[in-house]
Amino acid sequence: MTAALAPVESRPASTGETDTRHSNTFLRLKKKLERGVGEAIGDYNMIGNGDTVMVCVSGGKDSYTLLSCLLALRERAPVDFRIVAMNLDQKQPGFPDHVLPQYFESIGVEYRIVTEDTYSIVKDKIPEGKTTCSLCSRLRRGIIYRTAKEIGATRIALGHHRDDMLETLFLNMFFGGKIKAMPPKLVSDDGNHVVIRPLAYCTEADIARFARAMDFPIIPCNLCGSQENAQRKQIKTMLQGWAREHPGRIESLATALKNVVPSHLADSRLFDFVGLTRQTVVEEGDTAFDPLELPQPASATIRLMMPGADD
Ligand code: SF4
Repeated sequence: MTAALAPVESRPASTGETDTRHSNTFLRLKKKLERGVGEAIGDYNMIGNGDTVMVCVSGGKDSYTLLSCLLALRERAPVDFRIVAMNLDQKQPGFPDHVLPQYFESIGVEYRIVTEDTYSIVKDKIPEGKTTCSLCSRLRRGIIYRTAKEIGATRIALGHHRDDMLETLFLNMFFGGKIKAMPPKLVSDDGNHVVIRPLAYCTEADIARFARAMDFPIIPCNLCGSQENAQRKQIKTMLQGWAREHPGRIESLATALKNVVPSHLADSRLFDFVGLTRQTVVEEGDTAFDPLELPQPASATIRLMMPGADD
């Protein structure tokens, strides 16, 4: 569950068209999302034969979409893997605890509901008015890892998407002094769990359209009463403005996450500037006196990220 995400019903539609589940626009969108997920899985070797993937489903649009895409891809994947949907009921006031079990049963997916009253713990420990997300997330992470172990999961799939990754990149640059985003795949600190983000190439707008068309039973994400992080909101607004005013810019940023040139940054831990001599071969060469290279056209960049996305 991402604190920053507003319920899908409060989001404006990204297109004027209505996507019904059998319309061509919907089928194209479904194909595009599944292709993006398939590519991310392939590019980062996220899932292999015999894996058990525990998909964390919060009841938000992203995790429903993730589960739907993984189930569809499993049907035609060359590898055999198990999917277990998992929801953590944190006992937030008004949480409709019947919704997800009903949904999982309706689609016939194996599932595990874990009920832990982290809400009371957080309310008890954090003074009124202070942000609760960091303790809440820490508690949630511990429960998710424990559950993954119990069910024998070799992968934990989270519903973060491309725009979450970019927002995190800017949050870290603007407020943390780091060029650091959200990795598509990571290993937990204790080395016991591999966490994957198969929606890494999918846009929030596509996911929102898909979720609307699929009519997922969305559970609001503000039940804990926590406000959306103001800094993340600010970054989101900035990126949405860029997307409107500069077509292709966001796609270029997403591509940039995959094209890091350490010799052209300034981090001596990534590139040995101190030991650099006239014999050192530098990636992308000597650009000291060159004009800045122009970015690729937006359409080419989009195809780089998602071949066939525009077909
Ligand atoms: S406090 Fe609320 S918004 Fe923050 S992480 Fe927990 S459930 Fe999400």
